[in-house]
Amino acid sequence: MSFIPMVDLQNQYFKIKRDVDAGIQTVINNTDFIKGKAVNIFSEQLAEYLNVKHVIPCANGTDALQVAMMGLGLEPGDEVITTDFTFIATVEVIALLRLKPVIVDVDPNTFMIDPENVEKAITSRTKAIVPVHLFGQCAQMEEIMSIAEKYNLFVIEDTAQAIGADYIYKNGMVRKAGTIGTVGCTSFFPSKNLGCYGDGGALFTNDDFLASKFNAIVNHGMVKRYYHEMIGVNSRLDSIQAAVLLAKLPHLDNYNKARKNAADYYDNVFRNYSELITPYRVNNSTHTFHQYTLRLQNIDRKQLMEYLKDKGIASAVYYPVPLHSQEAFKRFKSSDDDFPVTNQLVKEVLSLPMHTELNEDILKRITETVISFL
Ligand SMILES: *Cc1c(COP(=O)(O)O)cnc(C)c1O
Repeated sequence: MSFIPMVDLQNQYFKIKRDVDAGIQTVINNTDFIKGKAVNIFSEQLAEYLNVKHVIPCANGTDALQVAMMGLGLEPGDEVITTDFTFIATVEVIALLRLKPVIVDVDPNTFMIDPENVEKAITSRTKAIVPVHLFGQCAQMEEIMSIAEKYNLFVIEDTAQAIGADYIYKNGMVRKAGTIGTVGCTSFFPSKNLGCYGDGGALFTNDDFLASKFNAIVNHGMVKRYYHEMIGVNSRLDSIQAAVLLAKLPHLDNYNKARKNAADYYDNVFRNYSELITPYRVNNSTHTFHQYTLRLQNIDRKQLMEYLKDKGIASAVYYPVPLHSQEAFKRFKSSDDDFPVTNQLVKEVLSLPMHTELNEDILKRITETVISFL
């Protein structure tokens, strides 16, 4: 029996091979590698898809976050509030810029930043909040935006895992994840919901002034050729990656739908077992299921993972360590007692294969195998 991986990019590629290959070939034929036509067209099409004024492409999602913080003029010592339960990139750039990461605990259902904890963490040095739209659905943006307005803070949305998700306002208005805060940051890492075939990322904003700053920063702070108005970095999306993304963008909604259908299948089976808590779905957002993550109750996670592996099924723990306990972040001296929810979550979570190519046969095999372990 064939091995079931966490992500299947190969079968996805075979279906769009013609468009991808042609796009890449065009870039090579035109030796249009850096700041090429494909990059501009992709940025425009993504801006249209997201209904946002500016898309600024860059080299990866981590850089997008860094460029956002540089462009917003954050200074060493400024405090940035973010979540304890996310990929390291979110806090890494905060520390790298000598800002102070202020890590707060999450909501046990959504695994995302709890607005109440955010407000409690605000001091006179707080400058920004970085909500992470974790695993494919949106954080509580209206609550976060009203806190930001009250205290005059920037909001940098980390939407690396939720591109294409719709945030649904209480009044029914809908906006794409990443276009609500001051700036949105995303990643096109291959396994993300909109992934290229290497590294890639982008910033989104409706603010003209910020957009021009971000555009300069990603290109050595250069506005006019060889005149550098600010300190920047070298962080560009290359044209070959843009060509791949151009081929994939028209499929994004269908890709997200396929993920949701797979999640529905999982839910329908697993909801009958008290040992498995299925992913909570918020009403303020659609779910694009970057990950399908269960919470295991009274199950030995390591044994289950071994069992699945023996039967040819991948599984993974996103994330095994809370940010506040990471070796590199211990110097920020947070107390372990302040993070009861994340400390518990890291012990319980287990993610199952989630991608666009899951069919009923595969899902049946996965769910039956998990159930047979119980
Ligand atoms: C993937 C990811 C990033 C970083 O993106 P890269 O393109 O790998 O640098 C940042 N934040 C979150 C939540 C992510 O999942």
